Amino acid sequence: MRTVDEHLADILGNVAVLPPLDLALLEAQGTVLAEAVSAPVPLPPFDNSAMDGYAVVAADVAAATEADPVTLPVIGDIVAGDTGVSALRPGLTARIMTGAPLPAGADAVIPVEWTDGGNATVRISRAAPSGHYIRRAGEDVPAGQVVVDAGSRLGAPQLGMIAAVGRSRVTVRPRPRVVVVSTGDELREPGEPLAPGQIWESNSYMLTAAVVEAGGVGYRQATVEDEPAKVLEMFHDQLVRADAIVTTGGVSMGTRDVVKEVLAGTGTVGFHKVRMRPGKPQGFGLLEGVPVFTLPGNPVSAYVSFQVFVRPALRAMQGLAPDPLPTVSAVLTDDVKSPPGLRHYMRGLLSFSHGSYTVTAAQSQGSHQLGSLASANALIELGEDAEALPAGSHVEVMRLP
Ligand code: AMP
Ligand code: MG
Repeated sequence: MRTVDEHLADILGNVAVLPPLDLALLEAQGTVLAEAVSAPVPLPPFDNSAMDGYAVVAADVAAATEADPVTLPVIGDIVAGDTGVSALRPGLTARIMTGAPLPAGADAVIPVEWTDGGNATVRISRAAPSGHYIRRAGEDVPAGQVVVDAGSRLGAPQLGMIAAVGRSRVTVRPRPRVVVVSTGDELREPGEPLAPGQIWESNSYMLTAAVVEAGGVGYRQATVEDEPAKVLEMFHDQLVRADAIVTTGGVSMGTRDVVKEVLAGTGTVGFHKVRMRPGKPQGFGLLEGVPVFTLPGNPVSAYVSFQVFVRPALRAMQGLAPDPLPTVSAVLTDDVKSPPGLRHYMRGLLSFSHGSYTVTAAQSQGSHQLGSLASANALIELGEDAEALPAGSHVEVMRLP
């Protein structure tokens, strides 16, 4: 027997960050940046107008009021994208659009709303201080500044920022390609009819989705029968394309536990009883350098094992900290019991009201009872030393993705 922490430490000690890859920006969405991206030039690159209005010398309009406007000749229009160099002499103004380069000599922009909008001459009815409605070069980002750090997950704002500093490609950690395979003679594809003794296969769908939630690319494979030769063939076929393989089923103490049978002693794969509920029988190791996670077959055991062991490993492969699912402290609404000596993950419903979290454990906690997982939003994590916790106790609760 080993503890959850020991098993996780074994896993994290054996997975490596994936080699970096150069991707076009939109292909990089959701990946983790492997380089620091910095601005080659200041942003904005030049002083420009923050408003549609008139570029002026502030001193020229210092006396302007509603009752006594200042009238200036308009020398022309400057629009966003104008590449010519323009200049303004005192006593004159130029109509200017948002984002257009400020003409040399101007030191303020009067918004069009403060004028009569004139073409040849304009009446300005309010004064503005020097610098008014000017966006200065570098006031967003100075030249050379790092705008997105290595190790950042690339979401919409980060992709926008990288484009804004002129980069079309980035070096990232690729999404781990994770092959997900279920094993079991009793399993049928959803959509197919069931014979007596058969059930619809669900783990591979659940875990392929969980891989995607964890930042990976999930490749669901057809279910493999409980035949040693077929299980071995599957591993052989999948190793060439996978960054990791996740299987379910066939790792406990039955007579058809073929995953355990064929992998024991292969590569560095080891099988362990882990002090947890659900999820006691676990296997992990490297096959030809590829991390292989053999999770138990009961659906809730498989899911909890994924969140506790596989998700942190997939994060590490992406160059992220191998954090567990985010937790909050919550108050139990009812008494709960927990098996001594085991880390207990209970399905629960977390809710927030009157400024604090409460959590109610689901009625059904059997490892085959997927129904209570599908209606849960959290896992209550009870330590090995917990036995009976009365309502009102504070517990740590993992939020499910
Ligand atoms: P095993 O670990 O293979 O002994 O399976 C334990 C239990 O989980 C059995 O009741 C299996 O029928 C069930 N089970 C195993 N794999 C799956 C799967 N992929 N989808 C749904 N149930 C499964
Ligand atoms: Mg089985």
